[in-house]
Amino acid sequence: MEPRAVSNKSNGNGIGNHQHGEFDIITWFDDVSGNAGFVQRETLRQILLQNCDVEYLKKWFGDIKVQEMDACALESLFTSLVPLVSHADLDPYIQRIADGDTTPVLTKEPITTLSLSSGTTEGRQKYVPFTRHSSQTTLEIFRLAAAYRSRVFPIREGGRILELIYSSKQFKTKGGLTAGTATTHYYASEEFKIKQEKTKSFTCSPDEVISGGDYKQSNYCHLLLGLFFSDEVEFITSTFAYSLVQALIVFEDLWKDICDDIREGKLSSRINLPKMRKAVLEIISPKPCLASQIEGNCNKLQSVDWFGLIPKLWPNAKYVYSIMTGSMQPYLRKLRHYAADLPLVSADYGSTESWIGVNMDPFLPPENVTFAVIPTFSYFEFIPIYRQKDFSSAIDDFIEDEPVPLSQVKVGQEYEIVLTTFTGLYRYRLGDVVEVADFHKGTPKLNFVCRRKLILSINIDKNTEKDLQLVVEKGSQLLSKRGAELVDFTSHANMGSQPGHYIIYWEINGEVEETVLQECCSQMDASFVDHGYVVSRRTNSIGALELCIVKSGTFRKILDQFIGNGAALSQFKTPRCTQNQVLLRILNDWTIKRFHSTAYC
Ligand code: AMP
Repeated sequence: MEPRAVSNKSNGNGIGNHQHGEFDIITWFDDVSGNAGFVQRETLRQILLQNCDVEYLKKWFGDIKVQEMDACALESLFTSLVPLVSHADLDPYIQRIADGDTTPVLTKEPITTLSLSSGTTEGRQKYVPFTRHSSQTTLEIFRLAAAYRSRVFPIREGGRILELIYSSKQFKTKGGLTAGTATTHYYASEEFKIKQEKTKSFTCSPDEVISGGDYKQSNYCHLLLGLFFSDEVEFITSTFAYSLVQALIVFEDLWKDICDDIREGKLSSRINLPKMRKAVLEIISPKPCLASQIEGNCNKLQSVDWFGLIPKLWPNAKYVYSIMTGSMQPYLRKLRHYAADLPLVSADYGSTESWIGVNMDPFLPPENVTFAVIPTFSYFEFIPIYRQKDFSSAIDDFIEDEPVPLSQVKVGQEYEIVLTTFTGLYRYRLGDVVEVADFHKGTPKLNFVCRRKLILSINIDKNTEKDLQLVVEKGSQLLSKRGAELVDFTSHANMGSQPGHYIIYWEINGEVEETVLQECCSQMDASFVDHGYVVSRRTNSIGALELCIVKSGTFRKILDQFIGNGAALSQFKTPRCTQNQVLLRILNDWTIKRFHSTAYC
């Protein structure tokens, strides 16, 4: 089942993917997708054979000899005996591992590394086991996605990639395990080294820049090197679209310094990490003509508000590649502005817990992208969920059915994903809601819908991240008509006032009259379609929506706050709702204008 047929010329970037390598991995994926039900049962069997003697599974399996069972029987036994869990249920086990318990708690092989999920989706960072399997599947999905991309957007042999990727700091837990974000572990893994070695001449930045540990310095060097090699850059990428947009926003301020460095082959004193300085200085040399050319382009770009920055500065780039779905969708407008006509290719779907699906159709606009589940990576179950029509309970806004295996999902149905992984998570509710859009042979192609967790709820109202996103999109249309743009947003369910009410925080770029902002505020209040909210507003059991305009730079400060707490820029997602007192203090201290929605009908 492993993609052993991958040509060793295929390097995970698409560059150097000879016809042969592409063919092999795509054929492998077609095969496992065609037999997805069988492959899933085998995957589960392998996970259980490896780990049947661990404490957690023994608790449910007792003395049953799983080795003697066939895959079908094992699947039904597993799903009948082992309960569905959330991270909180497994947390005590993971915590023991973090504290140094070396007995087989969740996996037979000792876990030596723990990942921190970005924590921006649930507001709190959580430990998740990370093993060799995690980096191997990362490399595999990168290779597969690259093979699909190179069919549609072939790239030049020997070209380069501007990869805006960043490691955060790794640290030791009480028990001496290495902890950090999953992307950081991957960048430190053998698999990444293999990829880098094979592609040494292809990535613009050396490891010292990626792993420098200071994202502002890394960012400067990424941009400097990306421009130093600008003619050779074949595509531009980051893990999530957020960091790509952030990097380019920063570029608008830094470009003169970068041009000076390129002209003279020097490095700004803002880079003070010795290893990073040395590595970059070894690469660059004076290029006065290039510096003048970039300067000329930037002067022109400035006059059109940086529209088309990417193709202008990287004239040979074929596309921009990043995760642009889900909570990244609000950054698409800005990315399109920078990319002009250059295709935006939305990257794959995964989580710290497991990779899930690949984008097989890179030609599709990000809004229409689906992810074909890779049935060898984990054992996937799907809990059918339905929006609740009876609004009597504020506990959850979904009704759910029994979980079904991957082979039984139905097109058009929404599900929550459940994972059983090679890294010791068993029937673990991921908390993501997806919709089955289609099938690739026997494996489903998923639309990412949203995180399941409600983010805004005061009374009987139930709004998810997606609901808020749609409301903000509507409200901010008035901004774009005035030539202003929404930089970022978040929200808070304020129960401190009577009645409670929603607060939405906006950072905007450009001047907008107060009357327009007032209109935006009322427009957002009127745009929530959740019945519970509408009823509560009509009866005034939820008060008028409050729109707070925060100072420019507020969301940058929030990013810094998260990074200071160990998050990595590569995985950062702005929390779309917060109850976190530190963030609320920043947001409230930096609020410059407040509006309350007017009459609600
Ligand atoms: P992390 O906390 O960094 O593990 O983030 C994983 C979460 O990011 C997933 O559970 C999803 O909610 C979200 N995510 C990852 N990939 C995508 C994608 N391609 N589209 C939308 N959301 C994604």
